[in-house]
Formats: sequence, structure tokens, C-alpha cells
Amino acid sequence: MMKKLVSMLFMLSVMLILTTQTGQAAAVPKLFLNGNALSADVEPRIVKGYTMVPVGVIADGLGFGVSWDAATKSARIHNGQTEMILTVGKITAVVGGQSVQLEAPPLIEKGRTMLPLRFVGSQFGLDVHWDSATKSVSLKQPEPSPPVTGPEPSPAAGYIQDIGYDGVSRFTIAYDGVVTPSEMLVLKGPDRLVLDLPNTSFGVSFAPGTPSGEATYTVDGHPALNSIRYSAHAGKPVRIVFDLAVPTSYEIEQTDGQLIIDVKYPEPGAVPSPGTDGSGNKIYKVVIDAGHGGKDPGAVSVTKRQEKEFNLAIALKIKALLDKEPRIQPYMTRSDDTFVELADRATFANNLGADLFLSIHANSFRPEITGTETYYNRESSRAFADVMHKHLVKATGLPDRKVRQANFAVIRRTTMPAILIEAGYLSNKHDDSVLAKEEIRDRIAKEMVSGIKSYLKLS
Ligand SMILES: [Zn+2]
Repeated sequence: MMKKLVSMLFMLSVMLILTTQTGQAAAVPKLFLNGNALSADVEPRIVKGYTMVPVGVIADGLGFGVSWDAATKSARIHNGQTEMILTVGKITAVVGGQSVQLEAPPLIEKGRTMLPLRFVGSQFGLDVHWDSATKSVSLKQPEPSPPVTGPEPSPAAGYIQDIGYDGVSRFTIAYDGVVTPSEMLVLKGPDRLVLDLPNTSFGVSFAPGTPSGEATYTVDGHPALNSIRYSAHAGKPVRIVFDLAVPTSYEIEQTDGQLIIDVKYPEPGAVPSPGTDGSGNKIYKVVIDAGHGGKDPGAVSVTKRQEKEFNLAIALKIKALLDKEPRIQPYMTRSDDTFVELADRATFANNLGADLFLSIHANSFRPEITGTETYYNRESSRAFADVMHKHLVKATGLPDRKVRQANFAVIRRTTMPAILIEAGYLSNKHDDSVLAKEEIRDRIAKEMVSGIKSYLKLS
């Protein structure tokens, strides 16, 4: 028992030494000024999440005057225009006679004054780039720009901590402090949306991407948005550019510490709405999407039937019925047992300029779950889903598991009203036998066509 305790203590101390060492190795950032490594006798370190840098060596490198007042434990830094006074342990600094909040109080390390990197970047007018891969901090003086008339750029009041994308249409900019966005600029040739955030800079923990403080983020899966770019240069507003494939609308919402930009999906010009009357000669393009196929069987039923077979059978029946409709031209994403990528199915419908998109599936879950569901993603697909679901439930005769919203790729990436039906549960004995019946399959196809015609006001 005793022996065990001793060896455990030994193990613990070894582990502590190991973790301390690796912890230090990972946490020591290197420091660069205008591309040159700074040799400081004290290295930058991360304290409570903030990168603290030895201010003396940086101020020296920039030719700023630095003096130390031992009585008040204050460092005075003069950049030729403005004096900054920083006091050890004090969260506020004095810059040009004004009180400025620091995110962490200055501290003394081996006789050197350490300041939060963010303060050094913003107050010394430096572009700060944090490279998380090499754990290095690079500080760069911006190229001298021609003198501008007008007010001096004021120090940053807000700091961007993160830019997030929800994978659909929403960008969230999380920030500290005060961020007041300018009016969104809607520009043409190429189409883009431009948002400036004056008096804002990137937080130290947020990696802007490149040493010049610019980054591009490629957006996948948004029909109107190609990429988002952001840049920050000392003395200039942070600029966020949304590069668009086609013009589209947006919404901006600001809450505490968050700026939310919703780049809307484009409203296709020719999308019929339930209000459209049936007059005129328009031929509606309807895409029938048989789920899965080829190497992807989809769900496998309790009697080992494959979902892909059911989906294709229904799709072919719908196609045959729509072929007889003079005002509807059906298209298939697959018409045999082949595999088609989800993105290609949506792209096919988008490029076609389809008016409606109908994806056919059957579900699988716990054996006792039974019933019929219809899914939509965008609000603009809801009315189509409602109409089709009524017809679908009537056709299957299975329990009504309602119209639901979901993030399935084919109904998210398509730009026209798009729905996905889950006719029943192949994992349920009853549903499986119902969906296998030829007369039920015929009825589903017939009701889907009735639903489409009803939505398009063709019946
Ligand atoms: Zn499926």
C-alpha cells in the first residue's frame, strides 16, 4: 500500500515536470518587428489568455522614447506625437492625456515591462499578425501613406475576436468593446457587399490570416456567395467584403458583442408562388430527385429492400405522369441506378433554372417509428412542402409525422422551392410492406403530380 503511494507520487511529479515543460514550449511566442526577429532578454508570454510582450525592445526598435519611473512603477513611452503612461498592475493606461482601458494590466518580468500585445499593436500603429502555427507574433509598421486631411484616426474602440459561418447564410462577428459598422455598400462589377468597421481592429487571439492583415474565406454551398474577405490595416477601418455570384439581399443585426450578417439566398426571378395564376404559356421545369443510387443504397428495409430502388421507382412513375402534362417539363437527377453527388443534384437544378425540386426518400430509424414526413429548408419552400405533404399522407395512408425543417444539402443548396419527402420508415415492418406495394407506389406518384399541379395552380 505504502509502496504504491510512493510510486504514485513519483509518477505525479514526473507528469508535472513533463506538462510544465511542454506547456512552456508551446506557449513561447517569437517576436518579429518589420520582418526582423527581435532579440529580447525576456520572451513574450501568454498570461491568462493574453499575449504579453516586452515593450522596451519594441519601442526601441521603432525609435520611441521609453523611460521608467520606479517611484510610481510607470513606464512612459513617447512616439514623437503622443505620450503613453502605463503603470504596473493598473488596468487603465493614459494615452495623450486620455484614459484607455487595457485588457490586462502591465506586469514586470525580470525587470522588463510587459504589455498586452493588442495595446502595443493599436497604440503603436502596427499591423499585428499572430501565426498560431509557428506561435510567432509579427509586428509591422504600415507603409507610409500620403497625408490625409480630416480628423486623425482614433485608436481602436473594438476588437474582433472571431468570425464564424454557420454553413448556410449567417456570418457572426464576435467582438469586444464598441463596434459601429458603417452603412453596407452594395457594389456592382463584380457584385459584392462591403462593410467597414471603423475604429476596430483584430483581437490578438484572432488570426487575420496573412502578415498584412488580410484573409479570404471561401464559402461553399451558398448559391449567391462565393467568398468573404477581411482586412485590417493600422489607421483604417476593418473591411469585410462579401463576394457575390449574383446580387442578393442581406440583413444586419447587432447584439451585445455580436454583429450578425445574414447574406440571403437569391430569390429566383421565375419562381412561381402559390399566388401565380395558371394563365399564360410558361412551361414549368420540375426536377425529380431519386435519393441515393449506385454505390449508395440509402436505408435498407427490414426485408432487405434498398431505399434507392424505392426512390427511383417513385421518381420514374412521377416522371411518366408529368410527361403527359403540357405545362410541365420534368427532369431527373438520375433515371437509373447510378450514384450522383448531393452537390451535383442541386447544381443541376440551379443551372437548369428549375421551378420546383422534389427529392424522393424513405426513412429508417427505430423499428417502432412509422409514418410520412416532408422536409423543407428555406422559408420560401414551406408553402410547397405544405401542399405536397397533404397529398403524400393521403397516398401512403401512414401516420402523419408532419412537415419539418431540416438542413439536407439538396433542399438547402437549391435556389427554387425545394422539398424532400420521406414517404415512410423502411425500418418499420408495416411501412416497409406498404411502400413495397405497386398500387401504393402508383398512388404516391399520382398524388405528387396532383400536389405539383395544385401548387403551380395548374389544376
Ligand atoms: Zn434517403
